[in-house]
Amino acid sequence: MTPPAIMWFRRDLRLSDHPALLAAADSGEVLPLFVLDDRLLGPAGEPRKHFLYDCLRALDHDLGGRLHIAHGDPVKVVPEIARKLGAGSVHVSADTGPYGRERDEQVRTALGDIDFVRTGSPYAVTPGRVRKQDGEPYRVFTPFRRAWLDHGWRKPAKSGVDSARWTTLKGGRKIPAGKSELPAGERAALQVWADFRDGALADYDAGRDRPDRNGTSYLSAYLRWGCVHPRTLLADLGPGNETFRSELAWREFYADVLWHQPRTARENYDRKFDKFEHDSGRTAQRRFEAWCEGRTGYPVVDAGMRQLLAENWMHNRVRMIVASFLVKDLHVPWWWGARHFMRNLIDGDLASNQHNWQWVAGCGTDAAPYFRIFNPITQGEKFDPNGDYVRKYVPELRGVQGKAVHKLDKLPGEYPAPIVDHADERRVSLERYDAIRT
Ligand SMILES: Cc1cc2nc3c(=O)[nH]c(=O)nc-3n(C[C@H](O)[C@H](O)[C@H](O)COP(=O)(O)OP(=O)(O)OC[C@H]3O[C@@H](n4cnc5c(N)ncnc54)[C@H](O)[C@@H]3O)c2cc1C
Repeated sequence: MTPPAIMWFRRDLRLSDHPALLAAADSGEVLPLFVLDDRLLGPAGEPRKHFLYDCLRALDHDLGGRLHIAHGDPVKVVPEIARKLGAGSVHVSADTGPYGRERDEQVRTALGDIDFVRTGSPYAVTPGRVRKQDGEPYRVFTPFRRAWLDHGWRKPAKSGVDSARWTTLKGGRKIPAGKSELPAGERAALQVWADFRDGALADYDAGRDRPDRNGTSYLSAYLRWGCVHPRTLLADLGPGNETFRSELAWREFYADVLWHQPRTARENYDRKFDKFEHDSGRTAQRRFEAWCEGRTGYPVVDAGMRQLLAENWMHNRVRMIVASFLVKDLHVPWWWGARHFMRNLIDGDLASNQHNWQWVAGCGTDAAPYFRIFNPITQGEKFDPNGDYVRKYVPELRGVQGKAVHKLDKLPGEYPAPIVDHADERRVSLERYDAIRT
């Protein structure tokens, strides 16, 4: 008789389009497993954890209550469960982040003669696969995207709850209580996708840059936990959806960058920036706190930071504006902001977050030229032309009509005065950049 297999879920909390699940099902009976790992949960931030717990509950429901939850170090826990079950193999979707790769190697070794099988990954093209002709990784997005498109990907895998004969094991933990505002799990993800695909996608090119509209997919948290695979989305796209396909390519690009250079999760991609002068001390700390709390006196920045605190999500355009403001107007190191984002974002993702921050800070891959510094006032006027986004998140400004919410000299007294002068700080940033340029 074929020994049972374990399907160890991690960033693939779904049953459809799941190649690893099909591979596990090939082996015989399958135990669905998730391990609550303190090394990942510790730094995760409450919003992301609550969303995870709710996604686990949804997966458990779809599995008829059979999801086995364990708690502890996977290097110990997974082999223990495998031995208890008498499993012949442990199946996973590959984890390509720095911690996951190391952990998986240790689990593989600890499993001894039990097979550890990686099938697929959370990406349409597994990081590390798309390379230049000389075998080197891409350092610039546009040629990466072209090569990624040329490489292509498989059709969505036909899998579901009936693909496997599921088994159970005694002694599982309870899924911790979650209280996510966002509907969690695979069904919710597919519904969110269907609504966007049949609605805002048609106007995505124009709508995606407008934080005052619902012009984007809101799929990032679902993609983060693999409630839907990007291949499922890509399969639904047509020739007119180039911009949306490109956004998914950014996600794949940053995962690829992190796979090749795990150090960039913590360090500047461009080492020239290691010498860049940042502010530190009490003033920097005070300004950083004002930024975190949405009290900078720049309306679109404050609206974004308050959206983050209220909804644990922020519009992409505004993420760029607030990140630029922190780094180039307040001269605070990018990693302070990246850490605040990771703690508060429901979609916090190491590859996307750290590399987008580095892109804005000028020290990342094909970074925006350092001297192109976002003006927080004109950005507000351009992308929130009627001021609706600002008024939604900054109650002190609700009485200000139309685009006047972006005029600093027209704002009411209860709203904070600007903590810095943009023109002055822009000059300081450019001088500091000049100092490291050569
Ligand atoms: C400073 C900063 C930090 C960010 N941190 C994160 C993060 O932690 N997690 C995260 O998923 N995204 C991050 N992003 C990228 C982007 O802001 C979000 O993916 C997007 O706002 C999510 O909303 P959406 O799903 O409606 O996006 P849509 O516009 O509908 O895009 C669809 C999907 O494409 C991907 N995508 C879009 N833009 C980017 C991008 N610039 N980089 C990588 N992937 C992208 C996402 O998976 C997104 O869900 C960050 C951007 C900036 C500027």
